[in-house]
Amino acid sequence: MSALKGVGDKRKSALAEYGVHNVLELVTTYPRRWVDRTAEARVRDLTEGSEALVLVEVRKVTVRPMRNRRTMVTVQVGDESGRLSVVFFNQPWRAKQLKEGMQVALFGKAEVFRGSLQMTNPIVDVIGDRTGRIVPIYPQSEKASIATWELAGWVENALDRCSARGIADPVPTEFLSSNGLIDRHSAMRAIHLPQSMEEKESARRRLAFDELVRVQLVLVGRKRAYEANHRGIRHVIKGELLNRFAKALPFPMTKAQKRVISEIGHDLADAAPMHRLLQGDVGSGKTVVAVASMLMAVQGGHQGALMAPTEVLAEQHFSGVSRMLEGLMVPASDNLFGDRPLRVELLTSRVTGERRRSVLEELARGDIDIVIGTHALIEESVQFSSLGVVVIDEQHRFGVEQRAALREKGNSSLMPDVLVMTATPIPRTAAMTVYGDLEVSVLDELPPGRTPIVTRWAAGPLVEQTMWAAVREAVAKGQQAYVVCPMIEESEKLEVASAETIHASLSTGELKGLRLGLIHGRLSAPEKDDVMNAFRRRDLDVLVATTVIEVGVDVPNATVMVVLDADRFGIAQLHQLRGRVGRGALASECWLQTKNPEEPSPRVEALVESTDGFVLAEIDLELRGEGTLMGAMQKGRSDLKLASLRRDRELIEIARRVATEIIDSDRTLKKHQLLRDELRLLVSKSEAEYLFRS
Ligand code: ADP
Ligand code: MG
Repeated sequence: MSALKGVGDKRKSALAEYGVHNVLELVTTYPRRWVDRTAEARVRDLTEGSEALVLVEVRKVTVRPMRNRRTMVTVQVGDESGRLSVVFFNQPWRAKQLKEGMQVALFGKAEVFRGSLQMTNPIVDVIGDRTGRIVPIYPQSEKASIATWELAGWVENALDRCSARGIADPVPTEFLSSNGLIDRHSAMRAIHLPQSMEEKESARRRLAFDELVRVQLVLVGRKRAYEANHRGIRHVIKGELLNRFAKALPFPMTKAQKRVISEIGHDLADAAPMHRLLQGDVGSGKTVVAVASMLMAVQGGHQGALMAPTEVLAEQHFSGVSRMLEGLMVPASDNLFGDRPLRVELLTSRVTGERRRSVLEELARGDIDIVIGTHALIEESVQFSSLGVVVIDEQHRFGVEQRAALREKGNSSLMPDVLVMTATPIPRTAAMTVYGDLEVSVLDELPPGRTPIVTRWAAGPLVEQTMWAAVREAVAKGQQAYVVCPMIEESEKLEVASAETIHASLSTGELKGLRLGLIHGRLSAPEKDDVMNAFRRRDLDVLVATTVIEVGVDVPNATVMVVLDADRFGIAQLHQLRGRVGRGALASECWLQTKNPEEPSPRVEALVESTDGFVLAEIDLELRGEGTLMGAMQKGRSDLKLASLRRDRELIEIARRVATEIIDSDRTLKKHQLLRDELRLLVSKSEAEYLFRS
């Protein structure tokens, strides 16, 4: 770093504070924005009362003392289109900072004062004497006191030094021109010092591609390394058991279910272990797919396991799946009668004592075909005779390690196949990045005969009256309702207190005379069960709840969902909540209440507009940007500085294709040393070893 012009010890520590420790970090500190000084940011375009950025020249600086030993610095600035006065109160140092003739970027609100435009205490970024048409503006840091012009200068200096040798391009040229990508050296230069906006854009595209292809190389590499290092079971996918199951179902499978089951069957028949994600909206019928997958294991003499995130869900799955499989006979050649009944058991931490001992014994002996449970399934004491297929429901609640732990339960050298199910749809290309080491199947069709849920926005007290009337009406018809209380992210305690207050006030107010239950996260597991069971038995009309009912709860007789302060929830969460109704043939409705009728609420609007989880996921990504998606990623995947999962979908697809081609021609990247070196920066040492070991 010290080799750079003007970087002494003092600037070096300022840079370190800014987060830049070496030349690589310096040149990958990209501008936050680029301003075309011939087309934007002109004084003429400023309008009174709105915030804007202008690029101007300092023309005159005056310091005026005020009372109380304060100072006011007035600066006259302008460009070829007009003039502007800038006033700084209590920033006497501005008089030293700003010199006549200097180029500065100002960001602030323009007001009219005594007939001319004026900005007060704007944000100032000194551009220095840089002249190009496009001015890069770097992220500012008051604390580290590094100005845009300084950074720009150092970056240019660093790039100049590299010029002689050129910056090596780790991506083989054959992939570049065919995908319209410029070389890395030009891109590096043009992102910092573009001659035009077009040049900046192609630089951004190339560098964003680099970020994405690195991520994809890790993901595809991980997948291939896993396939190369593990053998799976070749399952019998066309068997009598699966036929019997399909015939016994009270409904025909949807086209999507059939397609996904055949995709899974394809994986299961193969010797490489399956690692697949099943995305399907609430109510799309994922359970049938899960059961079919486990039956493919059973009909070849292996076992299936289904892991749910909570006891309630495990028990619900157990009763649902048991019903689905009731009376199903497993073809058994070693049996005198040719057939034997299929065995399904439950294993959670609530299965204890003698019962637990016998379940464990029978699992280890292979007498149990399918086990359904919670984390209890990955405990040390649980042994399988031959675990063939593992299904993990509601994946976002489980970490990668837990997935791996269950996989390790295969007690031979053969890995069980893994199917991960999630009801939180994410757009396809985002899935490629977030779950890129998994194959993805999508259930994109709801079973027929559902009456679509009608969603209404209850903004303000008037509509609220209608909303409560709808609840009373449903109950009068013998149906049930949920009331979800406002989410208070900061404190569960407050959330519970608010739920209790709401429960009390509804009991004596709007819902007086109805049988109200209350469920929240501070109840013990048995207490929660008692309430849930009472609701299922229809001993309660209305369940007042916090978000504990978000996932998977299935009571088909519940037809009205009320969400209070709905604008506090995210789109995905509202969609999950809404999925608690509309689970039977009865027409259902969802009321999203917000306090202020004036307040716009794009998320609530989105829910009113659409019931399609994938459409909502797109809108969500649009509204929120990347934030949460990136949060779901593991370490190393979050170094997307320029690439955007939202805007760069086409680029993600290209990156995926290129990464797959590279890995499939050279799995350990022996012939792509430069790429390998870059990936090392992205993954842990042990992972690098795993990925690049032949
Ligand atoms: P989810 O994908 O939300 O887990 P479930 O598997 O719980 O969905 O299924 C929701 C409901 O739809 C269940 O009551 C199930 O029996 C029913 N179902 C599943 N597949 C079909 C189908 N092909 N036709 C009709 N109903 C179906
Ligand atoms: Mg489900």
